[in-house]
Amino acid sequence: MQRPLPVWIDLARARAKQQLDGSVAGERMPRLSEAGVELLRPAEVSVCLTVPEFRSDARPAEVSGRIVALASLQCQRCMGSMEHRIESQVFWQLVASDSTEVDEDAEPIVLEGDRFELLEAVTDELLLAVPSYPRHAECALPGTHSGSDDN
Ligand SMILES: [Zn+2]
Repeated sequence: MQRPLPVWIDLARARAKQQLDGSVAGERMPRLSEAGVELLRPAEVSVCLTVPEFRSDARPAEVSGRIVALASLQCQRCMGSMEHRIESQVFWQLVASDSTEVDEDAEPIVLEGDRFELLEAVTDELLLAVPSYPRHAECALPGTHSGSDDN
């Protein structure tokens, strides 16, 4: 499970179906730390890429699978750190134009040419999966924590 994931995939040369499993360290996704999200261990990506023989926006390449990560966020109430487990099911349809209609349960990803930016897509998914206003269920503020008073 420790193989690094490819950064991008050339869909013009990709196999019709391939399983992409691998781990992605937080350092490879600088937009995460810019957003205040630190990964406590590498994200585990397990997705299947399907590329139709005559690929078009009507018959797009698809990616489905899941992404699991453990992030450290800053609690917006006490400013302490908190762990947040991410387990995200993904279903992406890779289209050429952002005006393309995709399936109801799919997320569109707009390609640049034949290039599918897998690492960028994983980064976006992780950013979407973290709460915009993270808070501990119960903050342990210094000096106020009694140790046994947890309702
Ligand atoms: Zn807190």
